[in-house]
Amino acid sequence: MGLLNDIGLRKLRDGLEKTRTGLLDRVTRLVKARTSLDDETIDQLEEILVSADVGAGVSLDVIESIRRRVKQEGYTSTSELDALLKNEIKRQFAAAPATEDGDPYDLRPARPYVIVVVGINGAGKTTTIGKLAHQYVQRNKKVYIGAADTFRAAASEQLAIWTERAGATIIQQARGSAPAAVAYDAVASASAQSADVVIIDTAGRLHTKVNLMEELKKIKRVIAKHAADAPHEVLLVIDASTGQNGLQQAKQFHAAVGITGLVVTKLDGTAKGGIVLAISREMNLPVRFVGVGEKIDDLQPFEPTVFVDALFETS
Ligand code: GDP
Ligand code: MG
Repeated sequence: MGLLNDIGLRKLRDGLEKTRTGLLDRVTRLVKARTSLDDETIDQLEEILVSADVGAGVSLDVIESIRRRVKQEGYTSTSELDALLKNEIKRQFAAAPATEDGDPYDLRPARPYVIVVVGINGAGKTTTIGKLAHQYVQRNKKVYIGAADTFRAAASEQLAIWTERAGATIIQQARGSAPAAVAYDAVASASAQSADVVIIDTAGRLHTKVNLMEELKKIKRVIAKHAADAPHEVLLVIDASTGQNGLQQAKQFHAAVGITGLVVTKLDGTAKGGIVLAISREMNLPVRFVGVGEKIDDLQPFEPTVFVDALFETS
């Protein structure tokens, strides 16, 4: 508990502003428009949840729970709806056990701890790696970064800028080099230099002739040659504003490379923040971090209960 300080909390609340207005203002309107907590009111609540990208599965579970509680515990007034909803959404997060499995900065049991970062173009991979590297450096970790997005020249340059900003070390090769070779090189160098963590950036799209998922599989295989238990984490980065599309991406990447954790970026400026809940629940994968802006400090460890509180409360 309590990984976020006051500034972090305010940033999270601000970042969730559009999602909050999208969701809660509509709930408030519903509460005003209707006096009793009848079936029709609850149906309308379900529509609101679905439209906030909370996901059909989660919405259904939340609504069923609320229906049951209304019957069993005898709620009659719509004024209880806010609290009921918050309560149920919290329970939904708790139902995905993996979301509470500890400290996202924990680098045990390996050294170097190998993180491969995947996701479609523009999702925020490179930016997230820069922010994450910065946080590890702040925790006195020696951080290596592998530039395995070798497809575009700009990709390495952008990563190099972030690496310098963060105080990490970049391992890169000439443009067009084999991504798996760069990944291997990065892990081997990190290991030789006793780095604590090595983070591998990957492409979100390749030449049409090269299949991205096959390339990512190869990266994983090559890393496992260096250390059989590596990579220790495969992080999928998803742009929150892509909404339900993000869930489809997660399924594809998971099927191909076996995702172990999620990062949801660009929560600031989207009303689709509910997607965090939808993806973690439907994929049964932990959300490790959320992105709430473009700056180096704008990546936060994800804490479900703090997130739900921030979603329901203004600054
Ligand atoms: P990549 O193609 O997956 O490596 O994506 P990039 O890291 O290059 O990011 C694409 C764009 O998204 C950049 O303009 C980033 O500044 C922006 N971005 C990344 N994360 C966030 C975030 O949390 N919030 C906002 N507002 N922008 C972000
Ligand atoms: Mg990139």
